[in-house]
Amino acid sequence: MIIKNAKIVTSSGLEDGEVEIENGKITRVGKSIVGEKAFDARGLVLMPGGVDNHVHIEKDYLKVRTDDTVEESTIASLFGGTTTVVDFSFSENFYSRVNKFQGRSYVNFHFHVIANSYSQSLEKIKKDGFETVKFFTIPYANSPPGNMGDLASILEKGFSVMVHAEDWDLISTLISRMGKGGSELHLKSRPEESEISMALKISYLARMYNSKVLIAHVSSPQTLEIPGLMYEGTLHHIFLDPSYYSKENGYLYVTSPPARGGMTEKVEKFDMISTDHNWFNRKTKEEHKYFPDLVPGLPTVELRLPMMLTYFVKKGLPLWKAVEMNSINPAKFNNLKTGEIKEGYSADIILYDFNEKWIINSRELHMADWTPFEGFEILGKVRYAFLNGELALDNGELLGVKGRLIRSC
Ligand SMILES: [Zn+2]
Repeated sequence: MIIKNAKIVTSSGLEDGEVEIENGKITRVGKSIVGEKAFDARGLVLMPGGVDNHVHIEKDYLKVRTDDTVEESTIASLFGGTTTVVDFSFSENFYSRVNKFQGRSYVNFHFHVIANSYSQSLEKIKKDGFETVKFFTIPYANSPPGNMGDLASILEKGFSVMVHAEDWDLISTLISRMGKGGSELHLKSRPEESEISMALKISYLARMYNSKVLIAHVSSPQTLEIPGLMYEGTLHHIFLDPSYYSKENGYLYVTSPPARGGMTEKVEKFDMISTDHNWFNRKTKEEHKYFPDLVPGLPTVELRLPMMLTYFVKKGLPLWKAVEMNSINPAKFNNLKTGEIKEGYSADIILYDFNEKWIINSRELHMADWTPFEGFEILGKVRYAFLNGELALDNGELLGVKGRLIRSC
């Protein structure tokens, strides 16, 4: 099949072109490709499907389970133009979460391996096609916070690592000195110094081992000034600010680390934009509305491309840069052959219509019963999405195509 008459986002701007797809892969990109079946993309902008490097779908291993199913959150992903999600699984019992997505996911899926120290099982999982480790410097699930020795043990073996970087020594001290209270205490107990100091230490190890280290969900503009690291941004750290925690329903907006503001002017510094999607409905958040019992996490997987593309157009920034952050760089970090309009890559492609303007309204999305971005104005809509070369979203209609597990190559 050949997608014809599209405007393709390239590093030198929008270019007229055609994309040929065969057996799930992009086989040619160019002009005047001759072939049988044609898909007319007139008036639409063609770009690679999004790769969301950070999602927590059907998360059932923490104190509070998310309110979604694999089906629901991956349908939302597809409607938002994301064709690959990268979730997390523990190095012990790694395949239990992988299998949970099989046959249920409406987009392709991949996993980071959660581990706070080096082990033989990391090598085995890497050989199997999962090369990135998620490391926590705060307690997570049943594990204590990882320290610099733990991190070094993984980096010296050549793994790429994504780090949740907050200083638990400082945070636990602050929490122990605060009583029960509102969500503004969450912000106070997790100051930006906690992230900056931790990222600074980690940057030393990253340089020492010449490793790819990605700081997950960067919340402080100052963290972005530290050299030698990669940076992941999220919608909430870019578009929300501390005023949300003083609202009457401030508990809804709680994330770890919290949103601090001051990020919108720094967007170009990020290597990638992810969501850190956690689908919690209002009721679940409300059941845990007081500090320190708050439930961090926001439903956002459907909004990443629309919000980022809107931001780039409004600021007059090149769309190519948005494509790098939304698709190319997260695919590269995980060593996945998707996220680019290039011969040999998986035919995960979206056609975006910049002519439509709409206002975010949780009732019209495919996620939780609320959204942190209610009322935001959006430019453009995902009209069509191809998943492994198959049309999966047809002018806003879900066709029921299922995604597959993808491995590093
Ligand atoms: Zn996360």
